[in-house]
Amino acid sequence: MSEIAVVLPDGSELGVPEGATLEDVAYEIGPGLGDDTVAGKIEGELVDKATPVSDGDRVEIVTDQSDEYLSVLRHSAAHVFAQALLRLYDDAKLTIGPWTDEGFYYDITGVDLDEDDLREIENEMQEIVEADYDIERVVYDREAAVDKYESDNEYKLDILEAEASDSDEISFYEQAEFEDLCKGPHVESTGEIGAFKLLNISSSYWRGDEENDTLTRVHGTAFESESDLEAFLTMREEAKERDHRKLGQELDLFSIPTVTGPGLPLYHPNGKTILRELEAYGESMNDEYGYEYVETPHLFRTELWKQSGHYDNYVDDMFLLDVNDEEYGLKPMNCPGHATIFEQNSWSYRDLPVRYAENGKVYRKEQRGELSGLSRVWAFTIDDGHLFVRPEQIESEVNDIMAMINDVLETFDLDYEVALATRPEKSVGSDEIWEQAESQLESVLESANMDYELEAGDGAFYGPKIDFAFTDALGRKWDGPTVQLDFNMPERFDLSYTGKDNEDHRPVMIHRALYGSFERFFMVLIEHYDGKFPLWLAPEQVRILPISDDELGYAHRLKNDLEAADFRVDIEDRSWTLGRKIREAQDDRVPYMLVVGSDEAEAGTVSVRDRKEREQQDVDLDSFIDHLTDERAEKREAPDFVD
Ligand SMILES: [Zn+2]
Ligand SMILES: [Zn+2]
Repeated sequence: MSEIAVVLPDGSELGVPEGATLEDVAYEIGPGLGDDTVAGKIEGELVDKATPVSDGDRVEIVTDQSDEYLSVLRHSAAHVFAQALLRLYDDAKLTIGPWTDEGFYYDITGVDLDEDDLREIENEMQEIVEADYDIERVVYDREAAVDKYESDNEYKLDILEAEASDSDEISFYEQAEFEDLCKGPHVESTGEIGAFKLLNISSSYWRGDEENDTLTRVHGTAFESESDLEAFLTMREEAKERDHRKLGQELDLFSIPTVTGPGLPLYHPNGKTILRELEAYGESMNDEYGYEYVETPHLFRTELWKQSGHYDNYVDDMFLLDVNDEEYGLKPMNCPGHATIFEQNSWSYRDLPVRYAENGKVYRKEQRGELSGLSRVWAFTIDDGHLFVRPEQIESEVNDIMAMINDVLETFDLDYEVALATRPEKSVGSDEIWEQAESQLESVLESANMDYELEAGDGAFYGPKIDFAFTDALGRKWDGPTVQLDFNMPERFDLSYTGKDNEDHRPVMIHRALYGSFERFFMVLIEHYDGKFPLWLAPEQVRILPISDDELGYAHRLKNDLEAADFRVDIEDRSWTLGRKIREAQDDRVPYMLVVGSDEAEAGTVSVRDRKEREQQDVDLDSFIDHLTDERAEKREAPDFVD
């Protein structure tokens, strides 16, 4: 039997017989690992342990100690849900039921469920978990698989059809009387599911396409332990309270009305005030690091998108339009515009690096069913930066970009993790340029003493990248900024500079964003801060609360002085009680309230109250303004109160 070699996570190679499965690989590494194997990963994709490996595959073994175990457990919980559903509802039909970041869902049809039904299904699920049925993988040939669904489930038939080219071995997973067409992986028995909950019901479309049938989507989650589930549910409640769609409306930040179209957000003055501060901060950093601002239109001839490759790979997500029989496309990315600007000049090695920046609006046609608040939209703005550098300049440029990103994430108190994604199997660019680029990225990370995860083979086909992931105040993880090297676009646009040797050379292009999409970053900030934006971002920074109309004149003088120092100030002049005025300002999350009565007006002072209900009387206005000025410049809440 001939031998093949797989690549282990540490980069070493392991020889195994041809036809070996992931489980065989695990036993090859060690019998203990073999026994503990739940599933595995091939080229980053989570698959069943029975999956055969091929020569050169990058593989990883998943045990119940791996991070991926939770995904496996959740998919098994989805099967337990489906089994319970079929026990209770004869007419229920299953379609697909994958795991997600937060748990799992199953798209079903043929039943009309409400919240009470979910509790009943949970009881049945509990019985199934307690019965601890073995979960077994069974392989059928195509004909037998089709037979199972021919009479009553067109969706499963559709799935079988879509995978027609794959192979004639169709895997099912079975537990007691239940079976489901499924690629796995799964835990060994239903008893492994420690704690679960069905969360809510929404609707979806078959294959995510609104032209197709509407389905019922039941969301659930599962954990290894009851305490993990409790912690998740508490966090979820808090997240609901902080939902950016709810706060966006309450604080009058933005709206997405039906009349303007789906996924096309409108920023109201309060929202735009925050956005302008974010833009200004990003711009000041770009200025400091030598970026030049450019501007490109929203629309280009599709010739450009063909040249950049977007037309071939991205056309389904693009908005296209015909103008005088010529096809145009709204830009899904800013890079081709910037590459074209670079291409308009001739460059010497001395001119590089060239760094272009633009807060560029882009348009991507997401499925309407996938749109949600500011997190998934059709129109959004990226704080894009594109650098054109000589290969040997990669290290110093990436080093600067990392410093900028670090500044941004620290400013918002977002802890982050970093990953380096390297050359995938299919790639463009020479071995030499890949090696040079990867070793420079590694040396940036190492000289910054940064812990990073090596995601071998996870880079884009056109270059390696550094990915940031950050954690918000609720402990949720988000994909953050990316620094992406690109050897492809300079080829496609035939970009060049004249080297010391007087020959033409290709620059390397670096794509980077500090915030990424402003819309998504804004959404994260709303929820991260629970709408209590730090002073520098708060749309209204100070609200003056006169106790009676007699103090209105004094209130206006205070407002003028604060505005002269560039603060955003309002006066609450409705004839409410002071208590109500304070509550309202608190609800509006205004960082500082100045209470002024006759004593303050006479003495020329203010009584300061903040959002945390800290109070200080008899504060002199100048020292309050000094305090505010410091807090604004620091971009974070002052630990002490006024002095
Ligand atoms: Zn499944
Ligand atoms: Zn780009």
